[in-house]
Amino acid sequence: MSVESLLETLTRRPPFRDFVTHVEERPARTAREGWLAEPLAPPLARYLAQRGLVLRTHQAQAIAAIRAGRHVLLSTPPASGKTLAFNLPIWERLLADPEATALYLYPTKALAQDQWTSLTALAAAVPARVLPAVYDGDTPPGQRARIRAQSRLVLSNFYMLHQTLGWAHQWERFWSHLAFVVIDEAHVYRGVFGSNAALVVRRLARLLDAVGAAPQYVLASATLANAAELAERLTGVDPSHLDVIDDDGSARGQQHFVFYNPEALGPGLASPHQETARILAAGVAHGVQTLVFAVSRQLAELVARQARALAAAEHAPFGDQVAPYRAGYLPSERRALEGDLRSGRIRGLVSTNALELGVDIGSLGAVVLSGFPGTMVSVRQQAGRAGRGEDASLVVWVPFADPLDQYLARRPAVFFGRPHEHAVIDLGNPYILSGHLLCAAAERPLDRPAARRFFGPAADGVLDQLQARGLLRETPRGLVYQSRPAAHQVVALDATGMQATVKVLREGEGGEAFVLETMDWTRALSEAHPGAVLLHGAETHVVSSLDLTHYVAAVKKQRVDYWTEPMKSVVIHILEERDAREHGALKLAWGDVEVTEQVVGYKTRRGDEVVAQDTVDLPPVTYRTRALWFALPEAFSRQRRLERANLPGGLHGAEHALASLMPLWVLCDRRDLGALSVWHHPDTGAATIFIHEHAEGGIGLTERGFDRARALAEATHALVRDCPCQAGCPSCVYSPTCSSDNLPMDKSMASEVLAQLVEIPPDPE
Ligand SMILES: [Zn+2]
Ligand SMILES: [Zn+2]
Repeated sequence: MSVESLLETLTRRPPFRDFVTHVEERPARTAREGWLAEPLAPPLARYLAQRGLVLRTHQAQAIAAIRAGRHVLLSTPPASGKTLAFNLPIWERLLADPEATALYLYPTKALAQDQWTSLTALAAAVPARVLPAVYDGDTPPGQRARIRAQSRLVLSNFYMLHQTLGWAHQWERFWSHLAFVVIDEAHVYRGVFGSNAALVVRRLARLLDAVGAAPQYVLASATLANAAELAERLTGVDPSHLDVIDDDGSARGQQHFVFYNPEALGPGLASPHQETARILAAGVAHGVQTLVFAVSRQLAELVARQARALAAAEHAPFGDQVAPYRAGYLPSERRALEGDLRSGRIRGLVSTNALELGVDIGSLGAVVLSGFPGTMVSVRQQAGRAGRGEDASLVVWVPFADPLDQYLARRPAVFFGRPHEHAVIDLGNPYILSGHLLCAAAERPLDRPAARRFFGPAADGVLDQLQARGLLRETPRGLVYQSRPAAHQVVALDATGMQATVKVLREGEGGEAFVLETMDWTRALSEAHPGAVLLHGAETHVVSSLDLTHYVAAVKKQRVDYWTEPMKSVVIHILEERDAREHGALKLAWGDVEVTEQVVGYKTRRGDEVVAQDTVDLPPVTYRTRALWFALPEAFSRQRRLERANLPGGLHGAEHALASLMPLWVLCDRRDLGALSVWHHPDTGAATIFIHEHAEGGIGLTERGFDRARALAEATHALVRDCPCQAGCPSCVYSPTCSSDNLPMDKSMASEVLAQLVEIPPDPE
């Protein structure tokens, strides 16, 4: 296999070379060996020696810090041996203290299973009863009591922990000897889910405090702009007791990172999917094992199909060496696939990001990223799959015609520069906090000082409200929850509120229905209206009805090749301005708003085309959240009106582009944000652009956005100004999800509006 010849084909030969806009050479690095002041316990030293493993500097640092009783955050690249670095000192303790226990938390069940397999090998190598066990929703009831009674290392997830805390008496042995809490893939815990997870950790800490346990927290995270802050927010540890280890001492082969931009010849002239298939076919033809990451399962299948068609057209024999990788593969299917990869029977694999999170299928010669996976964190995780040991590897990124993709495609220095993404966790959201305070009171009577100590200053006000609503009752031992249903049943970790949660029922084969998922009322109105296509995991479902009185949406599993986009009317009312930065009459502000949304219809799309448009009859929904907004100087607007310029079209274009780029600084999905522009807003008295959060109460996204608003405005201005299109395109001001069909729209006016916004005072820090 030759990565070099594949690189040469891409950069020298037509048609490939015309699309290659940048090649970043990331030099090879030799390993730096780490040394321990005290040697490892003999069984662990033997375990390493038998596998020919040598400790690297960052691993030795982690071992020293964990031995010294510090909390540790390991933030080094994928495949740098983070897992080994924390397992060695933790197992040393498990060997030395026959009662000590450890809890390992993973974001997915598949990952916990994978890790369990390797921990079992470690268990076999040491003379101690550790009995690592997975305890999650799939654990057979018959095994649970034994795990609680005997296991000293439990692998689980936050959903399970949330449920388990209500049964603390059953876990007394495990909790009272808990020495370590490991949170792997910690960057996943951000936004609504991260805020919920952080409060689950606070509930755990309070129960542990009651039984005299104070574990060390060990986190492994991808590189972020604020990894240490994330670790502190997630666990509540004192920053002065936390060591951040991020200087990677592992070896790395040379990596060629190619930007392959289908937009390079002009907007919309080439299809990114077809180009991805072409690169995959070239990789396989060169004998280089190639893994493609696609942003959806539909696209993964499309790319695999096109690559096979290319092989057939060239009478090349490699068509059957290309396979898709699907979410939900059984471990046995994965083992078979790994075997086929090792033997070379499979040379091209097309996957969704199901493969991104740690699951081990080995590394490959080349990785192709089809589209921007949403975050630089994901880019680094996916690119990290390329490169076996110290061999050279190739990563090809194929950006889509999308603002974020094209902004980065034209700025390699930003792409490869220091991380700018912030993971946000909000402990003060009253909707999220109230649910966890109810759970805490159900787990153990809750007194006010403890509530403040573990749940922060916002707890007092929320407890007052819960008492006033009769959900908590004062007793001599503290506040207790005694209502029905059980607190743990009403609190969902991926939602903000407790009220008005819609159950999505899937009609089963035999007529019986089961709950597919639950969602906020607001989200249900826009994503689960009749006719909507709902994606769950990788499967499509069509909504047959939405019952507004019983909060139930009925769906049918159905394979469809189209999707739906809601059309909404939105009104924003400012409740309270919390902070502002001004430059003359230009104002940037952040605060509390009330959003009223009404879904009035939906569009059906197939590919890039709208094939149908339907209306729906749904009530408006009003919720409080947070927003940031730019209010433009009245003089600017007056002048544009005098010139009869299309100011609304300019505001609309600027609004789209700003909202598209914000996830570059604040880690979130584009769908977590809404945006609105108004040429004269009653509350500001000026032309105003809002970016608001969809989560009730807000989870800190716009607060962080406010702190990065100047950088955001500058980047957005550069994006729109430099886009080679004439009158606006999907790479700058057009949005495929716009509920008013991108009307009105004016690209050059959008550029003028953005030129105003960059005048706001500089960002803090
Ligand atoms: Zn454009
Ligand atoms: Zn729009």
